[in-house]
Amino acid sequence: MAREPDISDFVEEFTALGAKPEHVRRIWRAWFGTGGWVPPQSWNYPAQLQAQLAHIRARLESLVRFEHQESRQADSGKLLVHLADGECVEAVLLPRDAVCVSTQVGCAVGCVFCMTGRGGLVRQLSSAEIVAQVVAARRVRPGLKKVVFMGMGEPSHNLRAVMQAVEFLADVGQFQHKQLVVSTVGDERLFEALRTARVKPALALSLHTTDNQKRRTLLPNARPISVEELLRQTTEYAAMSKYPAQIEWTLMAGVNDSEAEVERLAELLEGRLAMVNFIAVNPVEGSPYARPARQHMEDLITILRRRRIVATIRESAAQDIEGGCGQLRARRLAQAGVRFGRTDKRADIGGGAS
Ligand code: SF4
Repeated sequence: MAREPDISDFVEEFTALGAKPEHVRRIWRAWFGTGGWVPPQSWNYPAQLQAQLAHIRARLESLVRFEHQESRQADSGKLLVHLADGECVEAVLLPRDAVCVSTQVGCAVGCVFCMTGRGGLVRQLSSAEIVAQVVAARRVRPGLKKVVFMGMGEPSHNLRAVMQAVEFLADVGQFQHKQLVVSTVGDERLFEALRTARVKPALALSLHTTDNQKRRTLLPNARPISVEELLRQTTEYAAMSKYPAQIEWTLMAGVNDSEAEVERLAELLEGRLAMVNFIAVNPVEGSPYARPARQHMEDLITILRRRRIVATIRESAAQDIEGGCGQLRARRLAQAGVRFGRTDKRADIGGGAS
């Protein structure tokens, strides 16, 4: 199947039809829902572009179809996002008008506690497909204020598309840089790209442990970068972008929830611009990983707060409708009789910024 067009491919196409930058901007605003599709005479579209406008609109609007499931948890829900080639991904509606979008179909990192990681990478999403998830979310939540790139996929493995989507959301969607959060397990190419990026999103690092050897077991295909180096790179970027790094930690009972590990995390973060989000592991069928007791999680938070590190326990959104990454998609594939995951886990790893 031909690759789905990126935002940049569409821009080239519009330009070939005679579009000037202001015409491109109007098309994007119409698609994003902040402008209208029917241009007043004064807009003066070039004839070739005007003749193609209905077709362009149909193509943009058919990039994704979505099913919306509300959660009983306040302000949460899920979008099962169907792509034009029959694949699907998930976007999660989060409290406080945020949406978490996917950047790949499947994921090559293979985190042992993640349903998406079990199936390996299927394909990259184009930048237009990433933005289309936000367009879909805006249909359900018109007042969307934040976009988190933390759904299915590892953003650094689809870097060019992710950075295009970030720029689009800042330029067309008018999101401020701190309202866009890119999450990563850590990759030199992402750190490098962020340092020179025109729009500098907030950065979240999925760390999960301070033990380097354990991290290689929990995140088997993550880049072999030490925890110390990951935290150095992440917090240096936070200082540069003037917005705290978010350190994400999926807590699993008896695996990475010891007080000693959290003390070590506190030592590594002391004096740095960072905050910690603990999230209890989502129960996944057949998984040996269990959630720690609530009181124990609160005790871990206290260790960090004593060192003046901002720390929270985040609830996994939309638990009642398979809130864990990839669970809803996996169930739908199973219902459709599709084998879960189709490609080599390492395929296209680091498809990156080139
Ligand atoms: S947790 Fe994220 S990085 Fe890890 S396998 Fe799942 S989608 Fe990939």
